[in-house]
Amino acid sequence: MLDSLINSYPELEKVLNLTIQHTIWRKKECINMIASENVMSPLAMLLYLNDMMHRYAEGKPFKRYYQGLKYVDELEVTAQKIIGELLNTEYVELRPISGTIANATVFKALAKPGEKAVVVPVQAGAHVSHTRYGTLGALGLQQIEMPFDIEEWNIDVDKSIKLIEETKPSLVILGGSLYIFPHPVKELSEAAHSVNAKLMYDAAHVLGLITGKVWTNPLLEGADILTSSTHKTFPGPQGGLIATKTKEDYKKVSKVVFPVFVSNHHLHRLSALAVTGLEMKYFGKQYAEQIIKNAKTLAEALAEHGIKVIGENKGFTESHQVIIDVKANGGGAKNAELLEQANIIVNKNMLPWDKPEDIKNPSGIRIGVQEITRWGMKEEEMKIIAEFMKRIIIDKEDPAKIKKQVIEFRKEYLEIHYGFKITNEEELKLLKIMLHAEPFS
Ligand SMILES: *Cc1c(COP(=O)(O)O)cnc(C)c1O
Repeated sequence: MLDSLINSYPELEKVLNLTIQHTIWRKKECINMIASENVMSPLAMLLYLNDMMHRYAEGKPFKRYYQGLKYVDELEVTAQKIIGELLNTEYVELRPISGTIANATVFKALAKPGEKAVVVPVQAGAHVSHTRYGTLGALGLQQIEMPFDIEEWNIDVDKSIKLIEETKPSLVILGGSLYIFPHPVKELSEAAHSVNAKLMYDAAHVLGLITGKVWTNPLLEGADILTSSTHKTFPGPQGGLIATKTKEDYKKVSKVVFPVFVSNHHLHRLSALAVTGLEMKYFGKQYAEQIIKNAKTLAEALAEHGIKVIGENKGFTESHQVIIDVKANGGGAKNAELLEQANIIVNKNMLPWDKPEDIKNPSGIRIGVQEITRWGMKEEEMKIIAEFMKRIIIDKEDPAKIKKQVIEFRKEYLEIHYGFKITNEEELKLLKIMLHAEPFS
């Protein structure tokens, strides 16, 4: 393919090959279980290729600093409405280009340097942006960690309420990256409000579960602000968002997102985000319910194979994630690497009992089932995947042999579920519109 081009311009070959090889490998041949990833539907992907990727918009819809945006303005407002409806609020900011930028915006808008933020401990799931090493620290906020109850695998509610009352922070931050049981939003938001702090809920991982109505919407439980990525359990384009309960907080964050953290906000995301929002509106509940069934089934099957799965006393998980402790099986780094050799893609992860120096070889592996659920896998498939994993982690079988079986297994799951269906002909037509602005008929 593309032979004459490569003959004339040989440097192109490597770029083309790497891109094509990655796409075929990850999209067709792997069991992708990185908990922060997902795939868009073909319709959302095709719309993502639109001309807005080349354009500039600073400021808010209909109040921009550039011309040429009449369709973008309306599209942005439409996308805000769609996402707002899913989150039960009118106040949605879609301009943050990532979850980290959304967090930075809220930190800057609602706290001043030197003030405090009470957060989840890093080893128990806080995102790096909630810490002194990330955005929070860069903006001069003090990171104070809440006590964590390992038995309950959750924030220790009583001790954390006390901590909030004593330290009087400006922000309390819930939500996380290693996240299997819902944090106590109601109790901690009451504590936060009693000292005039705001409760920010970082929904990056669970936005698809919230909009799919299997995870309580924190804005209805007392959270003031929700931040998120738009590409983890919510299967949209990579990006970020902020939703607030009140108009007042919305105005504060909107004033910060531009000009402080975003100038142009990568406009082509908006169409794909709006399409994904509608897919969540119509198919989100089925999708999210299947995610939970799949996660529980995978966890049970792994435990039956003798793998140490976290949260057994509480039913293993209520999210898309399954966490395993593989310290006794050679550690997180080694096992994640072996799994990759078998085309099973996961990440190593720190667990609460790991020490900072264990970061290169932590005890844990984090698994997410959201993407494989989108590819149409259900409980039976989870059992097959658990068996593949056991043969690597426990039996130490040759990953190359399992890789062949994984590629064979993936062949049955090459279509995205819980999204709008379009025909092959419509796909080609849309592609031509996006590439060449061919007329729409
Ligand atoms: C992934 C993640 C983020 C950051 O999102 P990006 O879009 O990658 O910047 C923020 N918070 C939590 C809890 C996350 O897991």
